[in-house]
Amino acid sequence: MAGSVAAVVVAAGRGVRAGGELPKQYRQIAGEPVIRPSLRLFAQHGEVTFVQPVIHADDGTLYERAVAGLRLLPAVFGGATRQASVRAGLEALQGRQPSVVLIHDAARPFASPALVTRSIAAAAATGAAVPSLPVTDTVKVIDDSGQVAETLDRARLRIVQTPQAFAFAPLLAAHQRALAHGREDFTDDAALAEWAGLEVAVFEGERSNTKLTSADDFARAEAAQLAALADVRTGSGFDVHPFGEGDHVMLGGVRIPHSHGLVGHSDADAALHALTDAVLGALAEGDIGVHFPPSDPRWRGASSDRFLAHAVERVRARGGAIAHLDLTIVCEAPRIGPWRDAMRARIGEIAGVALDRVAVKATTSEKLGFTGRREGLMAFATATVRLPWNAP
Ligand code: MG
Repeated sequence: MAGSVAAVVVAAGRGVRAGGELPKQYRQIAGEPVIRPSLRLFAQHGEVTFVQPVIHADDGTLYERAVAGLRLLPAVFGGATRQASVRAGLEALQGRQPSVVLIHDAARPFASPALVTRSIAAAAATGAAVPSLPVTDTVKVIDDSGQVAETLDRARLRIVQTPQAFAFAPLLAAHQRALAHGREDFTDDAALAEWAGLEVAVFEGERSNTKLTSADDFARAEAAQLAALADVRTGSGFDVHPFGEGDHVMLGGVRIPHSHGLVGHSDADAALHALTDAVLGALAEGDIGVHFPPSDPRWRGASSDRFLAHAVERVRARGGAIAHLDLTIVCEAPRIGPWRDAMRARIGEIAGVALDRVAVKATTSEKLGFTGRREGLMAFATATVRLPWNAP
């Protein structure tokens, strides 16, 4: 097919029906915000040239954090309605003149690359096409009093999804015409295209391509995702660093004022080192010394965040998620209690794990051994990691 293919992914809604504190497209499913797989689908598809995200003006920070590393056009801000948001995305693409545009809702994170391929082919063949599924339930029309007025012939009914696929120029023209006529109420682009007189074809959708709308949808999707991550593994990690000169220690990524520092090649954060080894242990992918050799001058004095972030990235690369991190620090001093929540927050931030999945505990060794003599401290960690089940 001649010409380029663009995808507009709309994520500008407030998603209040889903409950929770975040707009639904930024809520996590199996360890990543919903919007990320929705955008990644197109960013990594070989037939899609441009991906144009449309976001809410209040969500810039959430958005940047959610999409780090994906190949996308700069996001544009949406409008008050879905239709206005799609129009903003189309107008942003005007200078690039793609031949085909796919319109997708960020709240459908489970669409497959095969569906994208079908949608591009359908748009090339027909100019306007939507993925659809047959209706298996009987559908009735009710009257104003709530009584059944009519039973529809379900053989003629279809549920439609996104990505909806169109020749670019006619869809943009249809959107601009709708605006000029004061029509801002279309709930999907196919309805707008029909109003504008375009013929809209259907192609085969996907049952798994569900739209996350209610709190219930999220609970079901999370359960399905977790069920797919059935390979549950536990890794353990352990680390020791001696005290030396200094006025603070780094522990769990937090700077804690102390009468001594910790000695080590990096910043000597024994807590993050133990956590890193625990995650690598769950993956059976060696240990921190294999991934970051102490002989490498790059890690001299390095902040240990990167070690844990690297191990977490290995989990993601294998399609997995971290279910839980548990850390125990053994020392006589400094006191850990006052810093516990700051450590949990920082570890959760580095690992992309919710706060209620990060535990930090501390104990002394009752003045016994090297920790009792205040010569150093040690840290133990356990990581619970879920990976997709691949039959051995
Ligand atoms: Mg260490």
